[in-house]
Amino acid sequence: MSFADHLLSIRSSIPTDIALVAVSKTVEATRLKDALATGHRLFAENYVQEAQEKWPALRRAYPDVSLRLIGHLQSNKAADAVALFDRIDTLDRPKLVRALAKEMEKQKRRVPLLIEVNIGGETQKHGAAIPDVPDLLNLARAAGLIVEGLMCIPPHSHDPVPYFKTCAALAQQLQLPTISMGMSADYKEAITCGSTEIRLGTALFGARDSCIDRP
Ligand SMILES: *Cc1c(COP(=O)(O)O)cnc(C)c1O
Repeated sequence: MSFADHLLSIRSSIPTDIALVAVSKTVEATRLKDALATGHRLFAENYVQEAQEKWPALRRAYPDVSLRLIGHLQSNKAADAVALFDRIDTLDRPKLVRALAKEMEKQKRRVPLLIEVNIGGETQKHGAAIPDVPDLLNLARAAGLIVEGLMCIPPHSHDPVPYFKTCAALAQQLQLPTISMGMSADYKEAITCGSTEIRLGTALFGARDSCIDRP
């Protein structure tokens, strides 16, 4: 099945107010053009450099594209990320608040953000620890940043439902409207738990090369 077929079938199976983000890491420009030809405009990438290689030309052809960063952001890439993305979903530490605030000021560009929450408390994963999220939010706001919501990835091969519920409750407690959770394997559960946007790679584009699969 093509991107268009997958998109149509998923779209018709989820509520219309759920945003569907097409995760296009490892997807090359020719296939992205097919995806864009369907009219879909909301995409996300994991790596700044890969996005820089693929998207500037596509954006010239499709100026209404909205591009998100969903992979870990190093502070020394903040300038590139602010220039390229329409939202950055992986704010997770004070150092990045400072780097992003400085760059947005410099570029006169206000890119909204999500705070990535390490919802399973996993040592190997990025994301702010749950108890640190309120302070990080306050710090970001004090620096003039716009935080629209939370993003999380539950631990691999666990039931994601309790983690989705925790993330949704945290967003509600902090009065943050956007909850980005749910990937190809678990988006239905995520929606049941209150997700407002799902991030789908495999379910839309097909399987990726397993060597470069993990973010
Ligand atoms: C790769 C990735 C996705 C999409 O994963 P699929 O399982 O292919 O849908 C979503 N979110 C993040 C943060 C990712 O790195």
